[in-house]
Amino acid sequence: MSTKLTESVIFEKSVEGHVGTTFSVKPGAANHIPEEFRRRSPLNLPQVSELDVVRHYTRLSQLNFSIDTNFYPLGSCTMKYNPKINDKAAALPGFASIHPYQPEETVQGAMALFHELEGMLCEITGMNAFSLQPAAGAHGELAGIFVIRAYHLSKGRQRKKVLVPDSSHGTNPSSAKLGGYEVVTIPSGADGCVDVAALEKALDEDVAAIMLTNPNTVGLFEKDIIQIGKMVHAKGGLLYYDGANLNALLGLARPGDMGFDVMHVNLHKSFSTPHGGGGPGSGPVGVKKELEEFLPVPRIVQKEGRFFWDYNRPKSIGRVRCFYGNFGVLVRAYTYIRAHGAEGLIRIATGAIVNANYLKAQLKENYTDPYPGPCMHEFVLSGDQQKALGSSARDVAKRLLDYGFHSPTIYWPQIVKECIMIEPTETESRQTLDSFIMAMNKISVEIKENPEQMKNAPFDMPIQRVDEVKAARDLDIRFVKKD
Ligand SMILES: *Cc1c(COP(=O)(O)O)cnc(C)c1O
Repeated sequence: MSTKLTESVIFEKSVEGHVGTTFSVKPGAANHIPEEFRRRSPLNLPQVSELDVVRHYTRLSQLNFSIDTNFYPLGSCTMKYNPKINDKAAALPGFASIHPYQPEETVQGAMALFHELEGMLCEITGMNAFSLQPAAGAHGELAGIFVIRAYHLSKGRQRKKVLVPDSSHGTNPSSAKLGGYEVVTIPSGADGCVDVAALEKALDEDVAAIMLTNPNTVGLFEKDIIQIGKMVHAKGGLLYYDGANLNALLGLARPGDMGFDVMHVNLHKSFSTPHGGGGPGSGPVGVKKELEEFLPVPRIVQKEGRFFWDYNRPKSIGRVRCFYGNFGVLVRAYTYIRAHGAEGLIRIATGAIVNANYLKAQLKENYTDPYPGPCMHEFVLSGDQQKALGSSARDVAKRLLDYGFHSPTIYWPQIVKECIMIEPTETESRQTLDSFIMAMNKISVEIKENPEQMKNAPFDMPIQRVDEVKAARDLDIRFVKKD
C-alpha cells in the first residue's frame, strides 16, 4: 500500500474480547434489571479497545475535508469561514441547555434573540416580517410557496402556475411542485439573465409567482429586476426571492426594495453556520406586510416588555416544523450579524464580489468565460476547451482534490456546457486565491499534455473515482465480516 491515509470501518477492527471500558462491572449487576427488559441476543457492536476507538475516529477526522482545513469554492453554497465565536455563543449554557417545552417566562432571553434576529433580517432584506421556523433554504421555499398559495386563495384566486428560470436551483421547481403548482420554465437570454420577452409570453392571470435568485446562479445581477417585478405584479402574481445568494448583497441592496414579496434566507450560508456535511441549517421565511398574516405559527410577539408565542393567527399556513426553528443556528447568525454590524455586512458583500472578480479575471485565460464582464460573488466558467481535448469539467474538479482544494460546483446550472461554478467568498486571502489560480492553470496544462490520464484523477486521494449514485440508489449499510 501507498502512504495514502486510509481507514477501514470500525467493525473490521473488532477482535473478540476487546473492551473499551476500564472500570469493572460487578458480575451480578445485570440482575438488578428485570428479566423482561434484558437483552435476548448479544448486541452487534464492534469489540474494540478505547485506543482503537480514539485512533479510528481521529484518523477519520483527518480524512475530512473542511473549510477549517482547505479552500472550498463550492459555487452557490457560500462555504466561508465560520468564526468560532458563533459556536461559543451557541454553546453558552443559557442557550444550549434550555428546552423548547420550558415556560415562556423562563426563556425570555432566548425569545428576545428570536425577536431581535427577526428584526435584523427585516432590516437587511427590506421585508416586513420573518418567521424563523423553516429548517433550511428548501424548507423556507416550501413555506413561502404555501404563503403565496394562502394569499391567492384568500383573494379567491385559484392560480395554477409558478415560473422559474432555467438557471434556477432544483429546489425552486421542487418547492413549487410540492406546493401544488405546475412549474413553467423561463429561458435565460444569451447574457445569462431572465429573458424578459420570454417572461412576457409566459405571464398570465394563472401565474401565482415567479421564483428568482438575485444575483442569479451564474453570478449575475438581474438587471431587469424592477421591470420584471412590475410585469409580474401587473398580472396579480408575486415575486419569490431565493436568498441563497444574499451574501453578495448584504448592506448593498435589498430584495424587498427590488419588488420581492416573499423570500427565505439561508442563515447557514450568508450568516455563517458550518454546513455542507448535512448539519442543521436554517431558512427563515420573510414577507411583505400584506402577507404577514399567513406566516407559520407561532409568531413571537412582545407585550409590555415580555415575549409570548402567539398561536392565534387564523389565516396562518400553520406549523412547518416542530417547536421554533434550529435554535443553535439562529444564535450563530445573531452573533455573526452583531459582531459585524452594518458596516461589517457591507464589507462581507464587497469582499465576496472583489474576490470572485479577481478569480474570474485570472482564470478566463485557460477556461471559457461564457458571460464576459464583471460578476457578483460567484461566476461560472465552461470546461468546453478541456472537453474538446478529451477531458472534462469533472476531471478538472477531481484533479483539484490532489492540489488540496475542494471541487467547485460542476454541471450546474445546466444552461452552461461543462459548467464550473466558483464562489470564493470574502474570507479567503489573496494568497489562497493565487494558489487556486495556479492549480487551475496547471490542470489546464496537464489536460493539454495528457487528457486521457486526467480521466483517472485524483491520484493522491485515499480513493480515486467512486460510483456517484450507487450509495443513493443501492444503499446497503450492513457490515458483513470477511474472514
Ligand atoms: C443552497 C441553495 C438552495 C437550497 O438551500 P438549502 O439550505 O440547501 O435547502 C436553494 N437555492 C439556491 C440557489 C441554493 O444555492
